[in-house]
Amino acid sequence: MNTTANKKSKTDGLTQELSRLIGKENVLHILEDRICYSYDGSKQKYLPDVVVRPQSTQHVSTILQFAHEHEIPAYPRGAGSGLTGGAVPLRGGIVLDFTQMNRIVEIIPEDLTATVEPGVVTQTLQSEVAKHKLFYPPDPASAPFSTIGGNVAECSGGITGLKYGVTRDYILSLEVVLADGSIIHTGRKTLKSVTGYDLTRLFVGSEGTLGVFTQITVKLLPLPEKIETLLVFFATPQDAVKSASQIIFNNLLPRALEFIDKSSITCIKGYNQEIQIPAEVNALLLIDIDGRESSVKTEASLIEKIVLENRALKVIPAKSHKERDALWEVRRAISPALYNIAPYKINEDICVPRSRILEILDRIADIHKRYPSLKVASFGHIGDGNIHVNVMYDKGEQQKALAEKMIEEILRNTVEVGGTISGEHGIGNVKSAFLSLEIPPGELKIMKDIKQLLDPKGILNPGKMFR
Ligand SMILES: Cc1cc2nc3c(=O)[nH]c(=O)nc-3n(C[C@H](O)[C@H](O)[C@H](O)COP(=O)(O)OP(=O)(O)OC[C@H]3O[C@@H](n4cnc5c(N)ncnc54)[C@H](O)[C@@H]3O)c2cc1C
Repeated sequence: MNTTANKKSKTDGLTQELSRLIGKENVLHILEDRICYSYDGSKQKYLPDVVVRPQSTQHVSTILQFAHEHEIPAYPRGAGSGLTGGAVPLRGGIVLDFTQMNRIVEIIPEDLTATVEPGVVTQTLQSEVAKHKLFYPPDPASAPFSTIGGNVAECSGGITGLKYGVTRDYILSLEVVLADGSIIHTGRKTLKSVTGYDLTRLFVGSEGTLGVFTQITVKLLPLPEKIETLLVFFATPQDAVKSASQIIFNNLLPRALEFIDKSSITCIKGYNQEIQIPAEVNALLLIDIDGRESSVKTEASLIEKIVLENRALKVIPAKSHKERDALWEVRRAISPALYNIAPYKINEDICVPRSRILEILDRIADIHKRYPSLKVASFGHIGDGNIHVNVMYDKGEQQKALAEKMIEEILRNTVEVGGTISGEHGIGNVKSAFLSLEIPPGELKIMKDIKQLLDPKGILNPGKMFR
């Protein structure tokens, strides 16, 4: 039998078995459907043999029991917005699409908790809890479409990270289906619990390689009364970085503290006609301050004073909700606007100690001198030391190879200054070759031993995290 026929009979066999187990309405097998699940935000393509859309924890358990028994690879998937290939079915097999398990099970304002299924879209959770004047702070830029399950698996962060932390800081307990189909519960729905090892933290950020989440309990905060936004122009990136440090050094903790460099500014110039950025501006800070109305006003004026002392050229406060949205729209426009510079890009999400930000930016500028045909734009959550370094290149294998070489140098330098190769997007298969740059052999062995213990047959998201 030829390979195409083999693949078809594999799909047919799996479809038959899985339809029997969880109902044919929850199994997708035609090519057009499978193509839709063959890629994610990393733009790689690997066709799954079959896609299942579980409706319950029991469905997930049944699917994994079957996959385990027959040693078939299984890949949990939320919205497929991951940037490191976490959801791509690298070795064929079964994709578990969680978008049908999207119920908000309960919101308990008295306990400041919510329990959700993994397919709930992040922004849906944010707006549902806001109806109770509550706040779910983790805020990846993908919040309008990414799922809580994907956020937990990647330990996603966002613009609120400096003040409020990342996804891991809000996960209280998890219902997890293990590779063999057994169901476990980690943590408690309490704000505190130190009983036993912290299995919840082990699963957060595990990128679908250790277990599959079917229910997630998150911690909530009271919704801040007021948010004020400032856009600040600087002549040099050094002034912007120093201002950011000074703001934090003065015990102020903005909700967001975003840095935008000259190349990124060039891309977004003219994006919003109301926001004119003069030619002498070589760096921007975009700052959100939140809290009670009175304290927000005081903090905003203190921050204005600090940036002006650090040679800010101009401070533009948003005077209305509409103006605030317009300022943030400029920030959100950067990523797509970078394609104005070159048709291809590699987007890195390095994170360094805040005290080393200027050093890593200088090192990146030095590295760039050795790759004059490539373009570099950096922006990101400077408050957390998390910089999105974008290396852009033109079509052609040679350009791509150069960009990859430059990225490797940037990652090596990041680790040298005490940073991490991924602050937000995870490892997946895109960065697995670089894991050992940061994780020493002893620690890597512990990680692999944990994987072996929880998934001895290696069926959960194979080829991710480790090579
Ligand atoms: C425009 C854009 C902006 C982005 N901005 C940010 C940002 O600001 N911050 C940030 O951190 N990331 C960002 N990302 C990356 C991405 O959105 C996040 O990694 C997000 O958490 C992925 O969620 P998802 O639902 O799309 O998951 P997917 O991409 O479907 O999956 C991601 C990983 O989660 C695993 N997974 C999914 N569901 C489950 C489950 N139920 N149980 C176990 N594992 C599961 C998958 O196997 C995979 O390894 C951005 C992406 C895009 C395209």
